[in-house]
Amino acid sequence: MKITDVISHQLSVNVDEPFTSSRGWFYKTKGALVVEVRTDEGITGWGDCYGPSAVCKSIVDTLLKPSIIAKDPFDVEVIWEALYNKVKDYGLTGMTISGISGVDIALWDIIGKACKQPIHKLIGGAFRTKVEAYATGLYFKNMERLNEEAAEEARGYVEQGFRALKMKIGLGSIKKDLDRVAAVRDAIGPDVKLMVDANHCFNVPQAINIGRELEKFDVRWFEEPVSPEDLDGYVEVSRRLDMAVAGGENEFTKFGFREILAKRAMDIIQPDVCAAGGITECKKIAALAQAHSVQCIPHAWGTAIGLAATIHFLASLPECPPCLVPMPPMLEYEQTFNPFRDRLSQTSLTHTKGFVDVPTAPGLGIEIDRKILDQYRVA
Ligand SMILES: [Mg+2]
Repeated sequence: MKITDVISHQLSVNVDEPFTSSRGWFYKTKGALVVEVRTDEGITGWGDCYGPSAVCKSIVDTLLKPSIIAKDPFDVEVIWEALYNKVKDYGLTGMTISGISGVDIALWDIIGKACKQPIHKLIGGAFRTKVEAYATGLYFKNMERLNEEAAEEARGYVEQGFRALKMKIGLGSIKKDLDRVAAVRDAIGPDVKLMVDANHCFNVPQAINIGRELEKFDVRWFEEPVSPEDLDGYVEVSRRLDMAVAGGENEFTKFGFREILAKRAMDIIQPDVCAAGGITECKKIAALAQAHSVQCIPHAWGTAIGLAATIHFLASLPECPPCLVPMPPMLEYEQTFNPFRDRLSQTSLTHTKGFVDVPTAPGLGIEIDRKILDQYRVA
């Protein structure tokens, strides 16, 4: 089989109700870059790149596409290494790797369709047939009623059946953050798992101070307490807190995660399949994590394609550690407005009582609705 074409679809949609995390960027539009890889046997594969879509499009179109035309999609690892070595001299992290991730996911989709097997069967099989999803939401919207809106939104997720949620913190005041976490914990009761995400807005002493208080609310993990560049800061925060410290959504490739794991800077690593190097690379990152007894619970923020790729990856992750009643890695199920997540696939990836079935159809196991690509494509 030979690759005959690579088409990148840049999508954008306006967000009616802007929201923000501690990063301070109010999301007013939502973008996506969908990669379509065509072959001479009529099989098409789909991929998804994380990050600003216009930049990813340029990387895919100008840097990656010329190197993979006429290649055999089954040579997925050979292609990964070739692309990585091609970008090596221009910076090894960030959106170049997102571009490679999108291509890699599309190649796995093609291989699965050609073999008539779902991707998880090709990467070692499924340790589970459904994955527990946690709702990511609880951003800051109405600054006048932050606690009320968070409690209402959290209650809504529990009513939908979610048994785990993640909320944003980082309001510039530890008291404000703790009041809002208390409001959410109060709204959801003691049995629903709660995680917090600071999007790296604290320095080390701030993170330790708020972390000690957050432990009183039975918070499962403290995500991105400090800046991703500050690995020594992560080590310090992780050692000083009892709760798990998570991070890594902005780290890339096995080389990037090697240092995090060697230093045991985080208790949970969160590579994004659409950013850190695709399925090929994330399997290696997960193996490195397992070798360090660190849990791998991927970050996910993309389209239905990224969601499906993440579910296959999650299905293939062994328990860490294996035991009688394990605590398997959960699926990040982002809940903000996103038609590319909800409408791009004609196959449903919705949850039932907080669990999502692992797709069993060939490849990613989803059917792309080209009408949605046409509707949201940037002219
Ligand atoms: Mg995060």
